[in-house]
Amino acid sequence: MENSKYIDLKEMILKELSVLEDSLDGSKDTSKIVELDQQLIGRLSRMDSIRDKEMTKANIGRRIQKKSQLIEALARLKEADFGFCIDCGEEIDIRRIRINPIVRKCFSCMQD
Ligand SMILES: [Zn+2]
Repeated sequence: MENSKYIDLKEMILKELSVLEDSLDGSKDTSKIVELDQQLIGRLSRMDSIRDKEMTKANIGRRIQKKSQLIEALARLKEADFGFCIDCGEEIDIRRIRINPIVRKCFSCMQD
């Protein structure tokens, strides 16, 4: 049974997921372009592209991580303990969940 209090959260998470997926598709193309460039340009600029590529990779990594956290949150949404702190069991402020659906701790436990 889905908690009606969080019903619009599902929409929110799905929307965020599709934005992430779009941006991940875009990033794949960018790294392909960098690879092509490397065959054409000199050593110094090659270093630059490698650095760019590393940054792109780190970025993609963060987005992939966010994506799996969102998928997890989506699955947890159906569970009775969604919205409750995994540390103390207190209900997490709904406003915080709306800002960031992947939060799993209440404000005071986040401080620890
Ligand atoms: Zn807590």
